[in-house]
Order: sequence, then C-alpha cells, then structure tokens
Amino acid sequence: MQTTEMIFNTDLNEEQIIIRNTVREFAEKNIRPRVMELDEAQEFPMDIIHQLGELGFMGVVIKEEYGGAGLGYVEFATIIEELGRVDPSISLSVAAHNGLGTNHINMFASEELKKKYLPDLASGKKVAAWGLTESISGSDAGSMLSYAEKKGDYYILNGGKTFTTHGTVGETAVIMAVTDKSKGRKGISAFVLEKGMEGFITGKKENKLGMRASDTTQLIFDNCKVPAENLIGKEGEGFIQAMKILEGGRISIAALSVGLAQGALDAAVKYAGERKQFGKHLSEFQAIQFKLADIAMNVDAARLLTLRAAVMKDKGQPNTKEAAMAKLFASEIAEKAASEAVQIFGGYGFVKDYPVEKFYRDVKLLTIGEGTSEIQRIVIARDLLKD
Ligand SMILES: Cc1cc2nc3c(=O)[nH]c(=O)nc-3n(C[C@H](O)[C@H](O)[C@H](O)COP(=O)(O)OP(=O)(O)OC[C@H]3O[C@@H](n4cnc5c(N)ncnc54)[C@H](O)[C@@H]3O)c2cc1C
Repeated sequence: MQTTEMIFNTDLNEEQIIIRNTVREFAEKNIRPRVMELDEAQEFPMDIIHQLGELGFMGVVIKEEYGGAGLGYVEFATIIEELGRVDPSISLSVAAHNGLGTNHINMFASEELKKKYLPDLASGKKVAAWGLTESISGSDAGSMLSYAEKKGDYYILNGGKTFTTHGTVGETAVIMAVTDKSKGRKGISAFVLEKGMEGFITGKKENKLGMRASDTTQLIFDNCKVPAENLIGKEGEGFIQAMKILEGGRISIAALSVGLAQGALDAAVKYAGERKQFGKHLSEFQAIQFKLADIAMNVDAARLLTLRAAVMKDKGQPNTKEAAMAKLFASEIAEKAASEAVQIFGGYGFVKDYPVEKFYRDVKLLTIGEGTSEIQRIVIARDLLKD
C-alpha cells in the first residue's frame, strides 16, 4: 500500500493572496446582494460571468497564449472556494466551465481546435458545457448510448445527455459519444459541439432543489452533424480523457465544498453572537460552541486535503486518490456544516431571510456531482488495493 509522503507549504504566496482578496471583494460587492434573487428566478447571471471573465477567472488554468490566466489548481481552488462562500451556484458554474468543458479542449484538443475555441471561453465571452452523463448512465458513465458514426467529413451524432451544466447557456460543448460499439469504454470518443450545429437541440432545463442559478439542462442530438475535425484527440480516447478531466474537476468541487462550509460557519458564528435566549447569547452555550468548533475543524481539514490535491496536480504528480479524498471529505463535512448551521439558526435557519437555508439546499449537489460519495470511495479503495 502506498502512503503519501509529502510535506507541503499551505501558505498562499503574494499573488495567490491578491487573487483571493480580489475574488472575495468581487463576490461581496457584486454577487452577495443578488444571491436570493438569482436563486428564486433560477437565473444564470451572464453579466457576472462576463465580469469574472474580465478578471481572468473564466480561463484560470488556460495558457496565456490562448487567452487564459495561465495559473494552476491552487489558484483555481482559491477562486472557487471564495465564490462558494457567497454563492455556491455561481461557484459551480465557474468550476464546471473552467474545469470541465474548457479544460477538456485545453488538455486534449488539436492546436486548431484550441485556437478556435479557447480564447472565447477563457475570456468568459462564451460558456462551456461538458456532457458525459445520460439518462441511463450516471455513475456507470461507460455504458452511455449516444452514438457518433463517421460519414465522410462529418460524424453523425444521435442520442442525448442529461444534467448538463450550461446545457442552455453554453455555446460550446464537449460531448462524449460511442464511436465503436464493440470496444466498450475504449470505443468512446469526445467531440466539440457548437450551438447552431444542425441537429444539436437544447432540451429541458431542470428545476432544481439547489444550485438554482447554475443552468442544468438536457441535450438532444438528432442526426447532429459534427465536423470530423471536431473530434478531440483520437477515436476511442474519450472515456480516458473524461476520467482525467474529472480528476481535476473533483478538486474544484472539493474547493466549492470548503467555501460553502466556510460560508455556513461565518453566518453561524455571526448569528450565535447576536441571538439571545435565556438572557444569554447563543455563543455562550457550550452546545453551540461545540458545533462551531467541529465545523471549523472540519473546514480546515477539508481545505488542507483540497490544497494537497491541488499542489500535487500543479506538480504533475498522480493525484487520483488525493482528489477523490478531498472531494469526498469536503463535500460530506460541508453537508454536516450546512445542517448544523441551520440548527444554530433554529427556525430562522428554515426561512429564506438568512443565507444558511440556501447553503443547506445547495450542498446536496456536492456529494453527487462529478462522482457520488460512493464512487469516490470506490476510486480511493481501488487505488489502495491496486498493488
Ligand atoms: C446539478 C447537476 C449538475 C451536473 N452537471 C453535470 C455536467 O455538467 N456534466 C455531466 O456529464 N454530468 C453532470 N451531472 C451528472 C452527475 O455527475 C451525476 O448525477 C452523478 O454522476 C450520478 O449519476 P446518477 O445521477 O445517474 O446517479 P446513479 O449513478 O444512478 O446513482 C444512484 C445512486 O447509486 C449509487 N451507486 C451507483 N453505482 C454504484 C456502485 N457501483 N456502488 C455503490 N453505489 C453506487 C450512487 O452513488 C448513488 O447514490 C450533474 C448533476 C447534477 C445534479
């Protein structure tokens, strides 16, 4: 069994602190006042996305030559955490755009495709979607049915995707589909699609429990004509590419979980210092103090696991297990943090006047999206037992 032998510096450097403070300030000023309005309307805030693009946060890990910020996963995690602290929906959208669709093109596409698609995505002018999940294939993504058949200069794609983040607002989408039915996962390929391509149809937008300002939509491919040059890499490489993309994506969901838990803690600490019962502030009751202490300890532990995975990723070290651990631990402690925060607020935690009600709804996605908790445990155990 392998152990992780590393000591790493968890201090953010000067540039990373500037980035953190910039996002924090932006989120407090431009996002916090609109959180509930966007949630109620289920409105994707394209104006905020464009502003985040101007700050360089829509192409965080994309090289500068393609219009990105050329930063690493520590910076990416820092940005996602700070956004998650204020609005997990917007944080989810920024995480998915950067970490999934855009990064898939960045990591695996041809030079021509990178030049064609990355500048608009990295600047936030356009938003990226990424479609792996289908109605019949979620955790078992390899059993997808969408099928792309090569005919001359085109692939003819038929099928559909469910739960696609940015399925409605995304103008560019990376889509996984079977190209050789006889080869199982090795017969899956990835393609870049654009809205407006013949047969590329936007389906039903989901009405969700939480993360309501993030757009989640079905996609339909009805004899969709995809130019052959839009194949990413070679035929049969799509599933492996997708698994590598999810590895990085999990670090961002871990960071989002840390941010959400920190946001719930901040709100609970403030409220416990204000609300009085039995002539005392809630913060004077040891039962409440213990809840706050447990949340704070878990948030710190989750942040350390997330940073460890991010540092390893930036160093180019294998981090499958570490990314899965960070995502699993952070999302599960975030769920507990959001629940305990609502408990500390009592009845006021159950109404929409305070932020913990929304954290409690948003948090459930984090143990499900980009691989459920059960799948993360399988990934970790598989890594432990592989020798
Ligand atoms: C808001 C939202 C946004 C999303 N965005 C995207 C996106 O942008 N792109 C995309 O491709 N997908 C996206 N997804 C899909 C998401 O990744 C899947 O929902 C997730 O992977 C789980 O798949 P499923 O929903 O089909 O659940 P299922 O796979 O049907 O799982 C149901 C339950 O069974 C458990 N289970 C399944 N297999 C096993 C097993 N082998 N052992 C033990 N337990 C198991 C699961 O853990 C879960 O508890 C999104 C989902 C949501 C809700």
